[in-house]
Amino acid sequence: MLTDKFGRKINYLRLAVTDRCNLRCFYCMPETGNNWLNRSELLSWEEMLRLCSVMVGMGISKIRITGGEPFVRKDIIPFLAELSALNGLDELTITTNGVVTAPLVPELKRLGIRSVNLSLDTLDRQRFVDITHRDELDKVLETMYTLIAHDIKVKINAVVMEGKNIQDIAPLVALTKDLPVSMRFIEEMPFNGGAQHYATLAWDHMRILQEIKQHYPTLQKITDPANSTSYNYQVPGHKGDVGIIAAYTRSFCGTCNRIRLTPQGTLKTCLYDNGGTNLKDLLRNGATDVAVQAAIVHAVSGKAKDGHEAERATHPDGVHESMAMIGG
Ligand code: SAM
Ligand code: SF4
Repeated sequence: MLTDKFGRKINYLRLAVTDRCNLRCFYCMPETGNNWLNRSELLSWEEMLRLCSVMVGMGISKIRITGGEPFVRKDIIPFLAELSALNGLDELTITTNGVVTAPLVPELKRLGIRSVNLSLDTLDRQRFVDITHRDELDKVLETMYTLIAHDIKVKINAVVMEGKNIQDIAPLVALTKDLPVSMRFIEEMPFNGGAQHYATLAWDHMRILQEIKQHYPTLQKITDPANSTSYNYQVPGHKGDVGIIAAYTRSFCGTCNRIRLTPQGTLKTCLYDNGGTNLKDLLRNGATDVAVQAAIVHAVSGKAKDGHEAERATHPDGVHESMAMIGG
């Protein structure tokens, strides 16, 4: 079992399989001028599978596939099929923007995927276009309904942004009335790849909670699962529930159980860490599995106490990369 120097057990890998995306959410990446990784810089599917296999052998029992948009990378389904067959992997989940996902849902179900996170910041078509710079709301909603119809657990992620989607908080909570979804509101973080926009924490988790309570005064606290990054609530009588993720406040680092692997094979032990360990070069230089394991153990032993410590160590100039390079 992988354990860091604070005694936190690491059993969860978030794997970003591409930096590319078919949306341009303004809080994540600039609309133009993105320097996409070329193919040789990306980990191949075989390299990813090998690293996942090594990590599962070290106690990683849950893997989340993310990106960029995972479903824009060719041949992801055969990769997921091989990954889902890894002995020791208990849970394989995906985070997607839902634009091209709906037709793939039956295949995801066949592969045993039980839970998908879907990003959706607004139910209003014009605001969707303003935020993502693409007119794709209908396809995202189709994915949501298709996942529900296939009995796949849906967690909806909405980034809360001053002046952009505050009026959407109540309608998004209203979705939980008849749909069995977890609606999660996320504090905006400063990972937009240098776009001319700065996350401000104008809407921190406490303010988001106040806003929800104004519309739903009966909102009740419910139990937070182990290692949960969200504070969880429910409106009595609603089928679904509501979560608030203090991603910028960083109040959940004490129980962090995760590591991240970027599309170019950098192992990050904290979301706010803009350095990392280059596992791709290690693989391409012929490292044995034992050597790869040693590099992972070493990286985990250096995991920062929390996101503030990681950020102080690596962001002296306050510049943050795109979330599409880290995977959220
Ligand atoms: N493309 C997929 C999607 O959007 O679901 C997966 C990758 S995306 C980087 C993963 C998650 O990060 C999404 O839920 C997105 O809303 C979130 N995200 C991206 N940029 C963010 C930011 N600056 N602050 C907070 N969350 C962010
Ligand atoms: Fe693409 Fe997801 Fe980033 Fe939006 S948040 S631009 S969908 S990677």
